[in-house]
Amino acid sequence: MAHLDLQTEQPSCATDGVWLACIECGEQFAPFESVRYTCDECDGLLEARYADLPTWDDFAGSGVWRYAAALPFDEGVSLPEGNTPLHEVPGIEAELGLDRVRVKHEGMNPTGSFKDRGMTVGVRVAERVGVDRLACASTGNTSAALAAYGARANLETLVLLPAGKVAAGKVAQASLHGARILEVDGNFDTCLDIVQDLATSGEAYLLNSLNPFRLEGQKTIGLEIMEQFRDEEGDYPDRIVLPVGNAGNTAALYKCFRELEASGAIDSDDVPALTGVQAEGAAPMVEAIENGWDHIERWDEVETRATAIRIGNPVNAPKALPGIRSTGGTAVAVSDEEITAAQRALAEEGVGVEPASAASIAGLRKLRESGDVDDDERVVCLTTGHLLKDPEAAAEAGVDPEPVPGTTEGVVEHLEAN
Ligand SMILES: *Cc1c(COP(=O)(O)O)cnc(C)c1O
Ligand SMILES: [Zn+2]
Repeated sequence: MAHLDLQTEQPSCATDGVWLACIECGEQFAPFESVRYTCDECDGLLEARYADLPTWDDFAGSGVWRYAAALPFDEGVSLPEGNTPLHEVPGIEAELGLDRVRVKHEGMNPTGSFKDRGMTVGVRVAERVGVDRLACASTGNTSAALAAYGARANLETLVLLPAGKVAAGKVAQASLHGARILEVDGNFDTCLDIVQDLATSGEAYLLNSLNPFRLEGQKTIGLEIMEQFRDEEGDYPDRIVLPVGNAGNTAALYKCFRELEASGAIDSDDVPALTGVQAEGAAPMVEAIENGWDHIERWDEVETRATAIRIGNPVNAPKALPGIRSTGGTAVAVSDEEITAAQRALAEEGVGVEPASAASIAGLRKLRESGDVDDDERVVCLTTGHLLKDPEAAAEAGVDPEPVPGTTEGVVEHLEAN
């Protein structure tokens, strides 16, 4: 497959050793001269390419920009982002009968999700291209990140949200950071269709994960996991389990590992098995993996409590499906009840996440039960967003407050009686 091949011979259209290549037909394009999200020739997805691929010694500093040698710029519009914790979760390890499970908590980014990693790079590219209005469709977290990074860069931001389907914390963020919020009568996929039309007609610069530069920033999740895990364990993880919505992260992690392998930083058998988890009510990627399809079929009706992955048409599937397959991974669907149970299990370890994030643990639990994950596997689960993003879901999953009288005696009596 053409996209597996990381050509490093620099074409004349490159700028400072960076260019864009179509994953379907291989056509190459100048990276910053004009705005382009897909291939002019065949409409395929684009990928950033580099004349030089870095190895571990080329990285210095902390956060996303530690990995500047793997990115199109040396610095960006930064809040700063990345450098998130890799938590130990002994309770979950014991319950699942696994020696080593770590949780990479991306909810600890500046706006509370991994989207910040993509935005710091994407907004830098927008500045370089010279646009003045940024836009995205969002299930919530992309809009929160875009609003904050757009504000920081002094650029106008426009976000399209599916009306009534976005968690409260996320809308509040977009609102306070000053984005124009358009509540669309439709689901996320409808919002993305509209914003793509706006972007194509030059109304705004698109910062969804269709934008190849956003995925460059998100690649740093993989770089950080490899370094943190190796420093702690002297080895790399066997498997990375992550929630899948538009499949941008899956695509970004796959690219990260291909580049590390191509530069000689890791061996091919060091590449972790990419394992995607979707909600049962929005699982086109799982359907494609289970049926051995090389494309997804769009789901028009999607429903799940995990609103961040309530997506029926994952635009990055052409990049992500080969990633899951060629790393020896798989994809699995989990119910909303399983997601809530996993959210509680993480909370019991002190790790607070939003529902979509808990899908990773729910998926791992399911794959342990089915025997797809072995006892001796070293696993990293990605938790993508913070608990406070969706306070309503957290309150529903958690314990109820108890009303008591406003006296010490009354409180003591209540504690004794219950
Ligand atoms: C965006 C998002 C996802 C989905 O990520 P993709 O890269 O689109 O697959 C999952 N969880 C949370 C919390 C998100 O914000
Ligand atoms: Zn093409």
